[in-house]
Amino acid sequence: MGQFPSLADIGAEFSLINWIQQRSQHTRIDSILEIGIGDDTAILKPQNREMLVTKDVLTEGVHFRLSDATLGQIGRKALAVNLSDIAAMAGEPTVAFIGIVIPRDFKRVMIVELFEGLISLAEDCDVKVAGGDTNVWDGPLVISVTLLGLAHVNGSVLRSGAKPGDQIFVTGALGGSLPSGRHLSFEPRVQQAQQLRDHFDLHALLDVSDGIASDLRHILQASNVGAVLNAEQIPIHHDVDAALSQETRLQHALCDGEDFELLFTISADDAEKLVDQNPLSIPVTRIGEIRKESGLFLRLGTQESRLEQTGWVHQ
Ligand code: ADP
Ligand code: MG
Repeated sequence: MGQFPSLADIGAEFSLINWIQQRSQHTRIDSILEIGIGDDTAILKPQNREMLVTKDVLTEGVHFRLSDATLGQIGRKALAVNLSDIAAMAGEPTVAFIGIVIPRDFKRVMIVELFEGLISLAEDCDVKVAGGDTNVWDGPLVISVTLLGLAHVNGSVLRSGAKPGDQIFVTGALGGSLPSGRHLSFEPRVQQAQQLRDHFDLHALLDVSDGIASDLRHILQASNVGAVLNAEQIPIHHDVDAALSQETRLQHALCDGEDFELLFTISADDAEKLVDQNPLSIPVTRIGEIRKESGLFLRLGTQESRLEQTGWVHQ
């Protein structure tokens, strides 16, 4: 539309959208996607499975700074956080829609770099970019991804299914993600969540974005239960400075956030099986137990302390 700034204003030599379309010609998503980029809407073929839909918006100056991350990393993360949400339901990601608002002084090569980061990860995860919208303005970079997924054939895993006696597990290790830059390169646990769902009756599941001291509360509230975590069992990531005291390192593991690991609960019987034979190629650690009484506690030796979002309160 004539009166609005267009992509031509930022020196698009040939259509950026044509390039995105070409670059997205991959994957085996054809079973779900009838028409992707190029018409007025995408067309999806109905599947005999529930569909999952998630969306995250990343804004320059709020979620990232251009001085701290490459454009490829920003594009990658914009998709990765959505993949992590589909993983948190144990679903299978399928197609993505990309809304982007580009600062006017951006060069075409910069937008291509951003999309390269995003589409490379999409390829790795069998996700196809099936549409979007592109604007140019005088403000900061904004990128919004809508990701669709298919529910696991055994059913999605909600936050509300944790039961007293369940054992609490986490994949990988926690803490130090922001200062190390891991938050830009993390591997969304998409396959791992599906494998866990293949093998176990997962009662509750989410992805850790704000730190388990915060995120475990979502499961507790939704399931109307409480929990105790064992301090010695929390897997602390090697990105957390080894020179810090053990107490401070634990604090980072519990509260830092941006880990994008899976936090889940399973029955005590299933827990024994998982500890005995982990089907994943990454570690899973039993870190605590769900109980009937409300509240989140941290067991340090023989002492139990109340665990707040910012850490624990010494008794
Ligand atoms: P319309 O005016 O009908 O919205 P557009 O020119 O915005 O048409 O889009 C043309 C096609 O390109 C559509 O299929 C749309 O989904 C796709 N598209 C536009 N921007 C993007 C983007 N940033 N990423 C992926 N697809 C896009
Ligand atoms: Mg449009």
